[in-house]
Amino acid sequence: MPDQADRFEENVPGKYYVTKVCIGCALCSAIAPDNFMENADEELAVGNSYVYKQPENEAEALLCEEAMEVCPADAICNNGDMSHS
Ligand code: SF4
Repeated sequence: MPDQADRFEENVPGKYYVTKVCIGCALCSAIAPDNFMENADEELAVGNSYVYKQPENEAEALLCEEAMEVCPADAICNNGDMSHS
């Protein structure tokens, strides 16, 4: 599993984050659109997704867990700084 040093800087602080092994398949933002977003900044590396909002309720947290499970690159982690989530 990738470690926190590999997280994209666009991720908001908190438990969930996307790391640089992301292949930009956009599955996570389809599953949990309230928390994951595709990177629209063309200056940055090939499209990747990142966490733009940490889950704020149980339903969002479940979708984040689901996104983590289906991510084909195992790019999503849930061991970030809990103090901000
Ligand atoms: S599901 Fe995984 S590989 Fe696909 S865009 Fe999200 S983080 Fe990247």
